[in-house]
Amino acid sequence: MSKWEDNVRKVVPYTPGEQPKIKNIIKLNTNENPYPPSPLVRETAIDMDDLKLYPDPAADLLVSAIAGYHGVDKNRVFVGVGSDDVLAMSFLAFFNSDKPILFPDVTYSFYDVWANLFRIPFTDLPLDDDFCIVPEDYERENGGVIFPNPNAPTGRKLELSKVRQIIEANRDVVVIVDEAYVDFGAESALPLTDEYDNLLVVRTFSKSRSMAGIRIGYAIGQEKLIKYLSDVKYSFNSYTMNRPSIVLGAASIKDDAYFKETIEKVVATRERTTKELEALGFKVLPSKANFVFASHDKKPAKEIFAAARERGIILRYFDKPRIDNFLRITIGTDEQMDEFIAFLKEFI
Ligand SMILES: *Cc1c(COP(=O)(O)O)cnc(C)c1O
Repeated sequence: MSKWEDNVRKVVPYTPGEQPKIKNIIKLNTNENPYPPSPLVRETAIDMDDLKLYPDPAADLLVSAIAGYHGVDKNRVFVGVGSDDVLAMSFLAFFNSDKPILFPDVTYSFYDVWANLFRIPFTDLPLDDDFCIVPEDYERENGGVIFPNPNAPTGRKLELSKVRQIIEANRDVVVIVDEAYVDFGAESALPLTDEYDNLLVVRTFSKSRSMAGIRIGYAIGQEKLIKYLSDVKYSFNSYTMNRPSIVLGAASIKDDAYFKETIEKVVATRERTTKELEALGFKVLPSKANFVFASHDKKPAKEIFAAARERGIILRYFDKPRIDNFLRITIGTDEQMDEFIAFLKEFI
């Protein structure tokens, strides 16, 4: 190692699901929505000449659209470049204690990456045998709490009363609920932000709004919390939101009918796929997200993953303790799931 490398901040990065360049694959590995964004987004013109100008640092058009949609004041909304950006800023802003932050042992694998990057101590708390979060475990000294609801990659939801129980037990730290998948069937903690000044709810346009490629995420909390978050953002990069994202994100919010329709389709396909997987001998965790987490008692997940890939069907496999015999399967269109099930019937 060269001497200068002593001074390098060394991190083990998050590994995103692959984005293969090959055409004609069935891509069920990164929880994208199989349906395109709203037609309103397609019809919205982007003024290319405007690109010579910096965007609005406050992204007011988008912030106002999100605030209006959720019926909260503008100063309670923060936007970022995907919820990954919002979450990273939140870790930096709110998890600034010597005490460990808490999150589940099986959860979004970016949390420990950010904790390591920002040198935040953390403790991961085991989910129970059914892969559920145990609220009582979060009643211990800590420097902050974060969990997704529904959890990823399990897809399991936590009842709102239990979310409240965790917040009630943690009034002295910031509690972040990552609602990346909430639109597919869990109850949102957004109403609780009126009651708790230490609660931050984080959302994304990537899954339910079919806009992973545009990179929009947001957070809602009380004004003081959002102000702290904005102060960190403005100390890092004033212009996180580019002009096209601001305009197209606002257009997406306007088309609620399309939004609800695609969610309904994904949920119906999820329920049907679950039944078909169970009929093939899979154990499928009850999912409230746009993916299912499943394991087979006879065929190892790793083998199914590899065989599916040979057939151009890309799934997500995590070689990690407790979940190394599970596959995370994104819900695609009905046709895509039919092809996947046909492959499984043959393989199993
Ligand atoms: C997908 C996902 C995110 C990040 O999504 P963005 O595309 O960055 O908005 C955050 N949290 C969880 C749990 C996710 O699954």
